[in-house]
Amino acid sequence: MQKGTIQVQTENIFPIIKKFLYSDHDIFLRELISNAVDASQKLKTLSSIGEAKGEYGDLNIEIKLDEEKKTITISDRGIGMTSAEVEKYLNQVAFSGAEEFVKKYKGQNENAIIGKFGLGFYSAFMVSDKVEVFTKSFKEEAPAVRWECDGSPEYMLEETTKADRGTDIVLHINEESAEFLDADRIKGILNRFCRFLPIPIYFRHKEE
Ligand code: ADP
Ligand code: MG
Repeated sequence: MQKGTIQVQTENIFPIIKKFLYSDHDIFLRELISNAVDASQKLKTLSSIGEAKGEYGDLNIEIKLDEEKKTITISDRGIGMTSAEVEKYLNQVAFSGAEEFVKKYKGQNENAIIGKFGLGFYSAFMVSDKVEVFTKSFKEEAPAVRWECDGSPEYMLEETTKADRGTDIVLHINEESAEFLDADRIKGILNRFCRFLPIPIYFRHKEE
């Protein structure tokens, strides 16, 4: 008898995730906003038990459309990520930071956290040629970092400057997904998915 572990080749599995994660491509916005909400709720939880110091201020989430640059940016003022956390949460497909958080802070309003399977973030690649993440942790000593990936298994991670705590996810929308570079299309998705979220979501259109 022989026992073993099945190996997964990231180069081969990535395109599959990209294409077939959801048949409905507009889900990417719901997933990324869910992560932004989770990051904000986590900050509230940590603050309530004294693990995050000071006022957290306003936690509004902003969605910004730039038709010229062909980008959609999702910005939150949540807990952000340190460089080590980016390594842990973004560079490991199907590792759920949400699940980990809920386990660690059991009994602390864990129902507020939406994430589960550790796949949602990758739905960004269904509509993007390239995804950039600018993030600054609530942990004051941690420098801000920028992560970039073009949907291949290779990523880039470097220190950057970012004034505010939280995370900006910049989606460079691919040609097949040009339909999402339209304010009414985005507003429609937001109206469908984001009406009952506990954190206010604002939409900003550069042309306006
Ligand atoms: P899940 O939400 O199920 O944990 P995702 O693939 O959606 O899985 O996200 C993976 C992890 O990446 C999250 O659990 C979280 O730790 C981290 N993450 C993603 N987006 C953000 C964000 N906007 N702010 C802080 N952390 C984030
Ligand atoms: Mg998620």
